[in-house]
Amino acid sequence: MLAFTHIAAGCASSLLVSGALNVQPSQTILVLGGGILGSMMPDIDHPQSAFGKRVLPLSIPIATVFGHRGITHSLLAVAGMSWLIWWSLHHLHWHQGYAVPVVVGVATGYLSHLVGDWLTNSGVPLLWPSNRRFVSPLKLCTGDLREYLLAFVMYGWSLMECLRMLM
Ligand SMILES: [Zn+2]
Repeated sequence: MLAFTHIAAGCASSLLVSGALNVQPSQTILVLGGGILGSMMPDIDHPQSAFGKRVLPLSIPIATVFGHRGITHSLLAVAGMSWLIWWSLHHLHWHQGYAVPVVVGVATGYLSHLVGDWLTNSGVPLLWPSNRRFVSPLKLCTGDLREYLLAFVMYGWSLMECLRMLM
C-alpha cells in the first residue's frame, strides 16, 4: 500500500476515533498529528519507504535484523510504539492533556497502517513472533485504481470532518 493511502487512513481513522471519544476540537489536532505519524511508522523497516528514508540510521538496521513487514507490522509494535511515544512525551514534561491525545492518535494511525497492509497480498504478521500472516479475503493491489479511490474517499471525508469541526 502506498504512503499516500496510509496517511489518508491515518487521517480518517484518527478523526473517527476523536469523534467517537468526544475529543475537544483543540485536542483533535494532536490526535490527527499522532495519527499521521503513526500511519507511517510501521514502514520504518523499509529504508526505501517514505518514512524509512527519513530515518535511515534506524530503518537500515531494523530492515537488516527483522526484514520488511516483520515485528513493526505486529500488534506488539502498536503497544510498544505507543508506550515509547507516551514515555518520551512524559520525559519531555508534556502535560497529560496533550500527551494522551498524541498517543491515542499514534496507536490509531499505526493500527490503520496494519489494516491497510492486511488488505494486500503479503498480509501482516499481527501476532509476531509467530510467522502466521493475516491476509484479508478482499485484497487491493498496491497502486491500483481501487487504492486511489479509497484514499481519495478517506481524504475527502477527513477534510469534511475538519471543516465540520471548525464550524
Ligand atoms: Zn507497511
